[in-house]
Amino acid sequence: LAPATAAATSSASYPTTHEQIQQPSDTPNFIDNKFTASQATQWIDLHDPATNNLVTRVPQSTDAELKAAVESAQKAFPAWKATSVLARQQIMFKYVALIRENWDRLAASITLEQGKTFADAKGDVLRGLQVAETACGITTQLPGEVLEVAKDMETRNYREPLGVVAAICPFNFPAMIPLWSIPIATATGNTIIVKPSERDPGAMMILAELAEKAGFPPGVVNVIHGAAKTVDFILDEPLIKAVSFVGSNKAGEYIYQRASANGKRVQANLGAKNHAAVLPDCNKNHALNAITGAAFGAAGQRCMALSTLVLVGETKNWVEEIAERAKGLVVNGGFEEGTDIGPVISPQAKERIEGLIASAEAEGAQILIDGRGAKPEKYPNGNFEKVKLYPPAALTQRPANEQIGPTLIANVEPHMRCYREEIFGPVLVCLNVPTLDDAIKLINDNEYGNGVAIFTSSGATAGKFTKEIEAGQVGINVPIPVPLPMFSFTGNKKSVAGGGSNTFYGKPGLAFYTQSKTVTSLWRSEDATMAKASVNMPT
Ligand code: NAD
Repeated sequence: LAPATAAATSSASYPTTHEQIQQPSDTPNFIDNKFTASQATQWIDLHDPATNNLVTRVPQSTDAELKAAVESAQKAFPAWKATSVLARQQIMFKYVALIRENWDRLAASITLEQGKTFADAKGDVLRGLQVAETACGITTQLPGEVLEVAKDMETRNYREPLGVVAAICPFNFPAMIPLWSIPIATATGNTIIVKPSERDPGAMMILAELAEKAGFPPGVVNVIHGAAKTVDFILDEPLIKAVSFVGSNKAGEYIYQRASANGKRVQANLGAKNHAAVLPDCNKNHALNAITGAAFGAAGQRCMALSTLVLVGETKNWVEEIAERAKGLVVNGGFEEGTDIGPVISPQAKERIEGLIASAEAEGAQILIDGRGAKPEKYPNGNFEKVKLYPPAALTQRPANEQIGPTLIANVEPHMRCYREEIFGPVLVCLNVPTLDDAIKLINDNEYGNGVAIFTSSGATAGKFTKEIEAGQVGINVPIPVPLPMFSFTGNKKSVAGGGSNTFYGKPGLAFYTQSKTVTSLWRSEDATMAKASVNMPT
C-alpha cells in the first residue's frame, strides 16, 4: 500500500497501451453515477504485468465512501424497482450497444492491466456482453406463474428484486465476471455495488461509465474499491441482501461463511483443477490442438483452463506431440501481434508458479518444457514464463537456443503438489492411467469439480464418462465447456461454495437475484351463503 498521488475523476483517462505511463492517475470510486476521487489513506499500486510500470493506484475506499455507495444504492432501489420492466429493458438494450461500441477500449484496458492478449481480452468482453444481451430478454424471463386453483381462486407467483446486492470479482476476467452480475441483477430491479479486483479494475470503470450513459439512474450501479477490508464491509452491511463472489477458495470459503452467517444469499464460484481424459480412439489432431490451446491460453489463468491431462493407455506417448505444439506458442506482450501467451498477473504469481514447477521437479516428475524465467526482448521486466527445453531423452543437455513458451510436466503422480494445488499459470501437468475407469476414478478423487473434458470418438465411452464423472461442466471433444448465458455456470464440489445451490446466470442466476412471492386470491363471483365460519382445512 502506497500513499496517494493525483486523483482522476473519469475513466476516460485510462491508458490502454504498454507505453510507459508517466503520470499514472488514481482510480476513482463510482457512486451515484459520478466518478469521485477517493479520500483514501491507503492505496494499492497496480502495475502493467508486461512491463511492471505503474498504471494506476487503487484506493482502499474509506468507510465513508463504502457507506455512501450503500446509501446511494438503497436510495435508488424503490424507484428502480418501480420502473417498468420495459423501461429497464430499454436501458439494457442501450448498455449492450455501448459495450459493443466500446469493445476494443474495454479489451485494451484488460490487456494493459491483466496482461492477456488483446484478442483474448475481446473474448473476455464478449462473454460478459452475451450475459447482458440475454438479460435483454427479461420481459419474457421474469413472468411468474398463475393458476386457477379452485373456483374463483387464483394463485400467482411473482419474482421481486431483493434490494441492494453486491459482486466481489477476481482479476482473471475483469469484464466478463462483473457482467455475470450487473445485467441480471439490474434487469430484475435490484441495485448493485461492484467491487472489482484491486489488481485490474479498469474494465469495470469503463463499464460504470457506460452504465451511466445507457441511462441507469444514479445509484443503480456503484463501484467501490479495496481489498479484504472492503469485502468485510460488504459481508457485514445489513442493507446488502446478496453477495456474488468469484475467486479463490481461500477468500471464497471465508466470504461464503461470513455472508451466510449474516443472513445474505451467496453465490460463490471458486478454484479449479480441470482434467481432460484423452482416449486412444479420439480425433488426435483435434484433441491435441484443443488441449494445447485450453491449457496455455490466457497464460493458464482461467478457472476453466485445462490444466491437467489424463492420458489413457497408449496416449501417454502423445506428450511429445503436445510439447511440439506448445513450443510453437509465442510468449510476448499482450498488445503484440501474434502473441499467444501474455504475462501472468504479478511477480508474486510468477514466483508461486515457478515454485510449483520446482516442486514437480523435486518430486520426480519430468519437466518436458520448462517455462521459468522468460524475458521477451521488448518486455524484460514483465511477469513471463520462459521456455528451456529439456528433451526427455537428454535431460541433462539443455539446448543453448532457448525458446519462449509454456510449461509441460509429464509423469505426474496424484500425490505431487503440482497436481494437488491449483497452479493458475501456463503449466500443463500430465498423468498416465491404463483405462477409462482409472481416469474416471482419478478425476473423481480430485476435490475440485469445475470442468472436465473427454476426447473420444465413441459415443458409448462419452456417455459412460458423462454419467460417472462428478465435475459440474463436461466437454465431449470440447476443451473448455463453459455454458453460454442461456444455461448456467455449474461447477461442483470444492469449485463452488455451499454445494453449488446458487449458480451464476441462466435461470438459476435469475432466481438468485429475485425473491419469489406467491399470492392466492379469491374473487367470489356469487355472494357467500355459508351460515357458519369453517375452522377446518379445506379438503
Ligand atoms: P482472489 O480470491 O484472490 O480474489 C477475488 C476477490 O476476493 C478480489 O476482489 C479480492 O479483493 C478478494 N479477496 C482476496 N483475498 C481476500 C481475503 N482474504 N478476504 C476477503 N476478500 C479477499 O482470486 P483471484 O486471484 O483474483 O482469482 C483467481 C481465482 O479465482 C482462481 O482460484 C480461479 O480458479 C478463481 N476463479 C473461479 C471462477 C469460477 O467461475 N469458478 C472464475 C474465475 C476465477
